Amino acid sequence: MSRVVTRFAPSPTGRLHLGHAFAALQAHDLARAAGGGFLLRIEDIDGTRSREGFVAGIAEDLAWLGLTWDGPVLRQSTRLDVYDAALAGLRDNGLLYPCFCTRADIAASVSAPHHGPDGLVYPGTCRHLPAGEAAARIEAGMPHAWRLATDRAVAITGPLDWSDALAGPQRADPAAFGNVVLARKDAPASYHLAVTIDDAAQGITDVVRGRDLMRATDIHRLLQALLGLPTPRYRHHPLLLGPDGTRLAKRNGAPALADLRAAGEDGEALADALRAGRLPIGFTIASAYL
Ligand code: GLU
Repeated sequence: MSRVVTRFAPSPTGRLHLGHAFAALQAHDLARAAGGGFLLRIEDIDGTRSREGFVAGIAEDLAWLGLTWDGPVLRQSTRLDVYDAALAGLRDNGLLYPCFCTRADIAASVSAPHHGPDGLVYPGTCRHLPAGEAAARIEAGMPHAWRLATDRAVAITGPLDWSDALAGPQRADPAAFGNVVLARKDAPASYHLAVTIDDAAQGITDVVRGRDLMRATDIHRLLQALLGLPTPRYRHHPLLLGPDGTRLAKRNGAPALADLRAAGEDGEALADALRAGRLPIGFTIASAYL
């Protein structure tokens, strides 16, 4: 069996909070218990939301919790050429099409919105644009995204399965997402594309992340099949919930690790408490899928 390698892959769009600590600990401890590697990846491809100022804080927070990681930190913003090459391959195989719709166009074009795991399912407006018209718009510099013709892709790959260490065997249902965006003008690779490529590039054997990303794995499994990448084992852990019973987020006042650190809290003691299930007052671990 290959050496276990896990990763923590935050997006630097805010300061880390207790939910991040809970997730990072699980990925770290799974690898360390097996004598394996734990890697850190900064998912900073979304230029509109990522902030350089948050990147240094991530390493400081993890170190404060007593976590160590191996090797250099991978920054997704340095790998755009790799994502571009994958997009070109998918495009050459007729699996991508350009989409010129704005959010407002999409909202206006659907009378009965259909929601998938990632939100509104794209109604397919640009899928049927004549090729010449699409090419002319690109030529004219019109902003566009590249969408995956998910149903065509599924027709090529056939049924796909993956396995979750906690939830058991899963049959992927990528079609439920509709034609997902794989690249946009302001984010040259989507989360789904970059995470799938980088988990393979970094040799991740076990993807440990929150259950909120459970269904996203269906799309990642499809991309693995299309790009000829291996399928790791998955472990989607239950989420930490705040006193209001919802998953932690900046917007509902989840305390930032940096604030706890500044207040003189002991990070390693906090990590041990989370490991032992001793949560701050009012916090719970979700029993159901959220
Ligand atoms: N960058 C993603 C996030 O911060 C996590 C990606 C993953 O673990 O797959 O939500």
